[in-house]
Amino acid sequence: MTKILFSPGKYIQGPGEINNVGKYAAGLGKKALILISAGGFRRNGQDILDGFETEDCTCEFEMFNGECSYNEIKRISALVEEKQCDLIIGVGGGKIFDTAKAVAYYEKTPVMICPTIASTDAPCSALSVIYTDEGVFEEYLFLPSNPNIVLLDTEIIAKSPVRLTMAGIGDALATYFEARACVESEATTCANGKATSAAYALAKLCFDTLMEEGYKAKVALEAGALTPAVEKIVEANTLLSGIGFESCGLAGAHAIHNGLTVLEECHSLYHGEKVAFGTIVQLVLENVPLEELEDIIEFCICVGLPVTLEQLGVTEITEEKIRAVAKAAAAETDTLHNMPFEVTEESTYNAILAANAYGHQYLGK
Ligand SMILES: [Zn+2]
Repeated sequence: MTKILFSPGKYIQGPGEINNVGKYAAGLGKKALILISAGGFRRNGQDILDGFETEDCTCEFEMFNGECSYNEIKRISALVEEKQCDLIIGVGGGKIFDTAKAVAYYEKTPVMICPTIASTDAPCSALSVIYTDEGVFEEYLFLPSNPNIVLLDTEIIAKSPVRLTMAGIGDALATYFEARACVESEATTCANGKATSAAYALAKLCFDTLMEEGYKAKVALEAGALTPAVEKIVEANTLLSGIGFESCGLAGAHAIHNGLTVLEECHSLYHGEKVAFGTIVQLVLENVPLEELEDIIEFCICVGLPVTLEQLGVTEITEEKIRAVAKAAAAETDTLHNMPFEVTEESTYNAILAANAYGHQYLGK
């Protein structure tokens, strides 16, 4: 039984770190291509440029076209060759760093990821999600290695919309429960091995950090304050959850998330918001003690994560819709089957209904 742990080469987090992109880039290459959005360039371009001034490394900015598609990957790859860059840096959100990771893989260069939001646990992973030019999911591109460096400037994260960081908490909330299920079932993880004790300990630390710091961070962020609680939540959302999910595996919560994507109404919700509800459904399937179920539902309510289907945008609940979600979640290839017991479409359907009812109970409506 082989155990494998994946992680980025270096993880750097702190206020003002955007100024140090050049310093770290100089350790990886001589000429960097920086993929960024027009808005990101306006906000952070000058700080990044200033950081390169004293370094033995130059950079060129390229504006991202908005979609992590094979066409965009090819366009950026051609630029990397034309400009003879030997390093890719992605600054922004998920689609930018998924594109940067994929380009680095095809061009065989190192890659640095600088997330400007903390809304998912994707930055640290060796994975790119590829879409069509029209934004329809195409496939997962599993990469042979994780980013060389992941760098987050927490002053930038603290200025991003609070809802995005709370969605990141939703994504991170699932990590420990999915890890626990995968460890029990001895499932093969996203790192293509069994979970190490180290990754499992990080998944547990991720959960404990969310419980302790999540609400404190929400209130601080709403006041525009960067506090130690915010720093801890950024780390939990990005690093702890990142290593936790990749090296311990996914199970029920993400499968329910994938199931929810079949409902048009849920499309305006963030990934982590759907994963949070998926976590509650997983706990119902596991029939965890009442105390644990209550803790999680109340925590979600506290940080503004959805606990009912209505909050996910499903205003008209029909058996047909919920069965469609259950069917997609229980698909042969999905991670619902990493649960340590048999899960069927029928048991999933019932768990979704019950999770929704518990949500209503605790919301008091
Ligand atoms: Zn996720």
